[in-house]
Amino acid sequence: YLLQLYQPLNILGMVYRNIKQSLIDVEAMYRLLHEPAEVEDRAGAPELVVARGGRVRFERVSFAYDPRRPILDEVSFEVPAGQTVAIVGPSGGGKSTIARLLFRFYDVTGGSIEIDGQDLRDVTQGSLRRAIGVVPQDTVLFNDTIRYNIAYGRPDASEAEIIEAARLARIHDFVARLPDGYETRVGERGLKLSGGEKQRVAIARVILKAPAILIFDEATSALDSATEQEIQASLRQVSTDHTTVVIAHRLSTVVDADEILVLDHGRIIERGRHGELLRLGGAYAAMWARQRRAAEREAALAEIAAEI
Ligand code: ATP
Repeated sequence: YLLQLYQPLNILGMVYRNIKQSLIDVEAMYRLLHEPAEVEDRAGAPELVVARGGRVRFERVSFAYDPRRPILDEVSFEVPAGQTVAIVGPSGGGKSTIARLLFRFYDVTGGSIEIDGQDLRDVTQGSLRRAIGVVPQDTVLFNDTIRYNIAYGRPDASEAEIIEAARLARIHDFVARLPDGYETRVGERGLKLSGGEKQRVAIARVILKAPAILIFDEATSALDSATEQEIQASLRQVSTDHTTVVIAHRLSTVVDADEILVLDHGRIIERGRHGELLRLGGAYAAMWARQRRAAEREAALAEIAAEI
């Protein structure tokens, strides 16, 4: 009797798990592709033409999620094609909002954003999003193989291209050592990848997609220094031939940036290269000193831990 009961229960369990699974996938897809459907294509809007390598221009951009609470206040900057701009500043200052506006999840409330001279509001969202690759802070992996997760950037990619992208993203050696290699299942039901590994899968995905513009939202969570260096190296690799906007939480990322913007309460309060900003002795220099002290404390603690 118990056996008779077990069978249907087992099937029910399977059905439940499958449904739950597809809900997770759908949710992930929704987040990736359709985040707030707030903006619509203008009738007859043409496609974005990335003819000059993807120059990004913010011209006195203001923005508010809620009109009573302004978030960005006349933010202007330019990222020449192929260059890297890093945005730093206190939490809540509006850094991620800049990335969301560039992806046109929302329309600006004042000013304009252009890519190669075309206002984002004048082109189709599909063409805009094909031109931009995002490496989010917290990458959602599909409950599928590592191969699928990397190739998601371009489903028709060949085996050789997938491996090349994984190599550039510094995740290939890790994958090659797994018993099932690229066929290893990851996600909720498979191998749980660390934050750093997930982010490198996302970087491989973006390398395959080969967009003109790259938005890299650096993870806030602490990474061990080896992982951090691997990610830095893979980021350097992809950003050399892409116009890159980095939302940086680690000052080690910004040292090489062509321009650093310090954003505080929705305004750019300092801008320049690393050395210039250090010499300025303002907010950036103070942040740098704080992070240096934190890193030194951590290193000292690690040394003590190693002795114990
Ligand atoms: P962090 O470094 O902590 O990620 P940030 O500089 O990226 O912060 P944003 O995420 O751009 O900051 O947020 C700027 C402000 O906008 C915050 O005060 C936040 O509460 C608010 N905000 C962000 N997203 C929304 C939203 N969808 N609706 C309303 N307010 C929002």
